[in-house]
Amino acid sequence: MHEDIQEVLISETEIQTKVKELGTRLTQDYRDLNPLCICVLKGAAPFMADLVRRIDIPLEMDFMAVSSYGASTRSSGVVRIIKDLDASVEGRHVLVVEDIIDSGLTLNYLLELLRQRNAASTKVVTLLDKPNRRTTGLKPDYSGFTVPDAFVVGYGLDYAEKYRNLPYIGVLKKEVYADPNQL
Ligand code: 5GP
Ligand code: MG
Ligand code: MG
Repeated sequence: MHEDIQEVLISETEIQTKVKELGTRLTQDYRDLNPLCICVLKGAAPFMADLVRRIDIPLEMDFMAVSSYGASTRSSGVVRIIKDLDASVEGRHVLVVEDIIDSGLTLNYLLELLRQRNAASTKVVTLLDKPNRRTTGLKPDYSGFTVPDAFVVGYGLDYAEKYRNLPYIGVLKKEVYADPNQL
């Protein structure tokens, strides 16, 4: 285990089992719909890469980058598009692939944008859900794991751009944060 990790919350095996399960459900639910899977960069990249390989129907992939956190551990509530989609979502069955839903602010903004752009349907699959932290009414259509109100890293999730390459989800040691009072 990485020396900055206090505890492994979800192991690599548990993640892969869950991803396979989600892929099977999405394969059934999106049959004949040629879904457009939108990865919200950067955190959802490992999940997206694993998930699409478990979805056994034709699909397309696109990528979007938005900012909400910076190097801090809390949502600013301000969503900025850093990289927009390459292609139009008009008439498409869009599946937004997220790493984690916390307040829900980021996703709320994204879903509204996709609806304005006339997507045929908009659904969300998230690997992790922190329902206790929600400040919006948002509920993911598909969710891997519910996690407690702790700051987690790994499998795409970062702290100041680090730890994205850990194959598991872990809780960071408190002393690693620049300012522990921010927690
Ligand atoms: P929301 O807008 O739902 O509050 O925040 C969503 C984004 O915040 C996630 O996509 C992720 O980038 C970041 N985030 C929220 N909770 C955590 C967490 O526990 N760990 C990490 N590394 N990022 C988080
Ligand atoms: Mg995200
Ligand atoms: Mg981040």
